[in-house]
Amino acid sequence: MTSTQQNFEAALRGLNITSSTSIAAVIGDPVKHSLSPVIHNVGFQSLGIDWIYVACEVKEGDAQSALDAMKLLDLRGLSVTMPHKTVIASLVDSVSAAAQALNSVNTIEVTSDGSLVGHSTDGDGLIASLKQQGVSVSGASVLILGAGGAARSVIDALQRHECRQIFIANRSLDRAQSAVALAPGIAKVVSISNLSDLADAAVKSDIIINATSVGMAKSPDTVSVSPLAPEVIDPHHIVVDLVYHPIETELLRLTRQRGAQAIDGLGMLVHQAALQQQIWTGLTPNVSDMYRAALQALA
Ligand code: NDP
Repeated sequence: MTSTQQNFEAALRGLNITSSTSIAAVIGDPVKHSLSPVIHNVGFQSLGIDWIYVACEVKEGDAQSALDAMKLLDLRGLSVTMPHKTVIASLVDSVSAAAQALNSVNTIEVTSDGSLVGHSTDGDGLIASLKQQGVSVSGASVLILGAGGAARSVIDALQRHECRQIFIANRSLDRAQSAVALAPGIAKVVSISNLSDLADAAVKSDIIINATSVGMAKSPDTVSVSPLAPEVIDPHHIVVDLVYHPIETELLRLTRQRGAQAIDGLGMLVHQAALQQQIWTGLTPNVSDMYRAALQALA
């Protein structure tokens, strides 16, 4: 047993689970390596409330059964991950503005009358994580690499938080063009393959966000890859990598080498979980405790 597992099991013993313990869970496939149980259980502990969080593997096509089970088993909150985020948006009773814009749900709340409300906390999680680092997106110009699910949630949050300008660069042009519609009037597509276009957008940007999966630790070869050439990064930039495994990506290493501020993606993961707990319990957990636990679990 690793020291992380020992620490986690010790934490669970401290939870003192009873017959009235409230249960929350993440549903998805795969979920067996999810950091969410560690992050959420430490969050519940920081609140001193009788809640526990578990991971449930739910196969594609079984989302409705999972919602039925949620009601039957009186689960108090669900996190939703791939492959269910889009289908759940059409199965819940209502959705928040962000979940509606994205047609994607990562959080399910059960209201006092038993109806299910879908939320999306990823984008606001990033905004909260930046705020904790002293970074405001209001009035800022942002270059975002990627146009997948994570990029879309960030673009939606950036426009809600009064970002001035958004440049979207993605390998597939059609996905970049579709993401522009999330921030009409302030977002435009730039070429990811033309270094001069990309450098021009970077010069005009205060914040650069990597929302591609480039740099993820899938294999020893992939971790040393950066989605952005180092010469595009200037000391005035704030560079955020949504990839959090490894915690120090090649992009963040190059960012520090270029003298710019580097922000890792674990903060977004932890803050979006804290927002989920606020939705379920009305309380704000200790994000520093949650971040430390996630970092330890990653190590
Ligand atoms: P998606 O599969 O929805 O999107 C993947 C994105 O990466 C697309 O823009 C895709 O481009 C791009 N991409 C993939 N491979 C390459 C490549 N070889 N070269 C260039 N672009 C590439 O995934 P998500 O949006 O859900 O996740 C993206 C990353 O963000 C992941 O690493 C994920 O772990 C991380 N993430 C972090 C979160 C956090 O809380 N920190 C939350 C959610 C995600 P194309 O459209 O052309 O395929």
